[in-house]
Amino acid sequence: MQDTVLVVGAGPAGLSAAAGISAAGQKAVLVEKEDVLGGAPILSGYAKLVPSGEWAKDAIGRMISRVEQDDSIAIHKGTKVAKLEGEAGDFTATLSNGETVKAGAVILSTGFTHFDSINKPEWGFGTYEDVLTTTQMEQMVASGKIQCPSDGRVPERVAILLCVGSRDRQIGREWCSKICCTVSANLAMEVKELSPETDVFIYYMDIRTFGLYEDKFYWKSQEEFKTKFVKARIAEVTASGDGRLLVKGEDTLVKRPIVIPFDIVVHAIGMDPNEDNPEISKVFGVGLEKHGFIERAEHYTNTCGTTRRGIYSCGSAYGPESIDDSISQGSAAAMRAIADLNAVVRKAS
Ligand SMILES: Cc1cc2nc3c(=O)[nH]c(=O)nc-3n(C[C@H](O)[C@H](O)[C@H](O)COP(=O)(O)OP(=O)(O)OC[C@H]3O[C@@H](n4cnc5c(N)ncnc54)[C@H](O)[C@@H]3O)c2cc1C
Ligand code: SF4
Repeated sequence: MQDTVLVVGAGPAGLSAAAGISAAGQKAVLVEKEDVLGGAPILSGYAKLVPSGEWAKDAIGRMISRVEQDDSIAIHKGTKVAKLEGEAGDFTATLSNGETVKAGAVILSTGFTHFDSINKPEWGFGTYEDVLTTTQMEQMVASGKIQCPSDGRVPERVAILLCVGSRDRQIGREWCSKICCTVSANLAMEVKELSPETDVFIYYMDIRTFGLYEDKFYWKSQEEFKTKFVKARIAEVTASGDGRLLVKGEDTLVKRPIVIPFDIVVHAIGMDPNEDNPEISKVFGVGLEKHGFIERAEHYTNTCGTTRRGIYSCGSAYGPESIDDSISQGSAAAMRAIADLNAVVRKAS
């Protein structure tokens, strides 16, 4: 029986899980495939997070420091798990760096992969320099200057297109990515703050600023920052001939075609299943649900479980999730893993 817990993936969920295991008095081994910790908010250079308004590098930076300064947590960066043998209570993992780790339980906090906008070619990404993703636009906000990548001019008009790579059956992505409406309303306010002369338009099918995000982001961005929301179906993004971009589609409220010129077009990209999930499923022997996210064992009495005993999951590995909820689920997975390990010990004694 091993009491160490192996945590795979060091994004918000994994950092929270590792800290939770240590806080409960047990040892954790944290394995991260990239050379830096922090997951998507750090790897993709997010700007200010919703809902806190804190810079990602500060907020997630605190989570990183907490695990880095903790002697109960061993960290392996630039590493994957190559093989997992054994069973709940007594696993042996072989890491890609050749080391072996003995662990009683495993938490998969392996997160998601950003939708690649190249899979939506009719909306101009990869063709026009001034068509960007939300992560690229967040990096521009973090740099402190809003300008067109093509020639450095200050944009008169920016369009943010919602649901890119989400709620789109044609490209096999039926799910709502949950956070991108709120992230986009926030981004619109950040752009206006940095560049007051720029007008921001958000093209949407539905607005899903869920829970308490409605007034803080949706209404505030309209009322205080004059963001214009247009309910529309977008057909294509093309060049206008004078160096601008044309967003063409149908205004679905008045049922009329619309063609509006913009200087920058932003794709609000969604959350795909982690591209590693087929490999993760094989190495760890866990099932995937129909979209390719990690399959949850049971919704009410084993929320952090997977289809294999002793292996748990949390955060966006299970499906689109916010940072706050990923952090809570990381703590819950840690608690559940330790509780199950303690039950094995009690049974054996
Ligand atoms: C454009 C955009 C902006 C967003 N902004 C916000 C926001 O402002 N506020 C908010 O609440 N949410 C936001 N989100 C959602 C946020 O990104 C997620 O909630 C959060 O990243 C989920 O954390 P996680 O730890 O589950 O996954 P991730 O952040 O994806 O972390 C997973 C970690 O696991 C590692 N990993 C993956 N596979 C392996 C493997 N095989 N072996 C080892 N390691 C592996 C990855 O490298 C990564 O470090 C945004 C999402 C998008 C798309
Ligand atoms: S949160 Fe909004 S932008 Fe994101 S997929 Fe859902 S409806 Fe579309």
